[in-house]
Amino acid sequence: MVQYLVILLDDTSVSYCHADNPNAERKLISIEHLKAGIHEAMRQNWMIQFVYPDYELPQEYLDVIDTIDHHDIFGIEKSNFEVENENDSVRVMDYSQLATANIQFSGGILVLRLAKKDLFEGDDKIAALLPKVERLNIVITDLDTFTDSDIERYRTILAKISEKVKALYLGGATPQFNLLTDRIMLSKPNHCNAGVENLTLAPNGKFYICPAFYYSNPDNSIGDIKSFHETSELQIPNQQLFRLDYAPLCRHCDAYHCRRCVWLNRKTTLEVNTPSREQCVVAHTEREASRLLLAEIREKATFMPETEIKEINYNDPFEVRKEW
Ligand code: SF4
Repeated sequence: MVQYLVILLDDTSVSYCHADNPNAERKLISIEHLKAGIHEAMRQNWMIQFVYPDYELPQEYLDVIDTIDHHDIFGIEKSNFEVENENDSVRVMDYSQLATANIQFSGGILVLRLAKKDLFEGDDKIAALLPKVERLNIVITDLDTFTDSDIERYRTILAKISEKVKALYLGGATPQFNLLTDRIMLSKPNHCNAGVENLTLAPNGKFYICPAFYYSNPDNSIGDIKSFHETSELQIPNQQLFRLDYAPLCRHCDAYHCRRCVWLNRKTTLEVNTPSREQCVVAHTEREASRLLLAEIREKATFMPETEIKEINYNDPFEVRKEW
């Protein structure tokens, strides 16, 4: 059941996930489409996440946005920017901004988008963010290019950052870091679930599975706001394939923190319910690093969640599919 509606306020709204936003030209959603999106979200009882461009919206838009409870997703565009934890907002930045800008953080949720090369070379900078934000989400934008040697490097990098996370835990803090602590906290899947639990309304007044489906081809629309108002229906071809119970590998998998990105699936395997090997192996490398971290913290700390992360002998669920 859909619970969230993502509304892209402009064609240049910040990308907060795997796909880059290729749009350079501003195209603000019309005020009519914005109001209609809010109206439909209220009718369907969906929570809204507004995704902002890097320029100030007209006051008329801000007034309309303020008519409903919502979450905000902003990019960090200024070179001296203090990130504050306000209104459950999420701030997004690219690694290049982290390297060049003098950014002060004070709490809040930060999404850091980077390429694997940045992750391998900038682990110290990434680890230094952990005590400064409430939650750090790393999004690896070229995850589909991971090779076996990249995985070895990734394992080493995660072990290094894990030391920092452990030190923070043992010092009484509770850092949230998607690559290492999410799996520790989860006892059931927490995938992205685009197309099932969340949908996206683009500035053209049309619905999409997620922003990436819009960015990659605006003809990917699953319906427009006007006809949805009349019918409450969207046209999602083979909608069941977006569901976990129709994903032959993922439904058995306990890499609960994995995003299970259906856009990446389609890009790499041409099937929304079939992940690439890279997505699975990266997620399992994080799962193993989380397992080791949990065991190490438990040796020293009294309080930890009761989660059990079993030791397993595979890094790619495809290898054990016959046992499932
Ligand atoms: S690791 Fe692979 S099989 Fe497991 S949830 Fe992620 S994409 Fe699905």
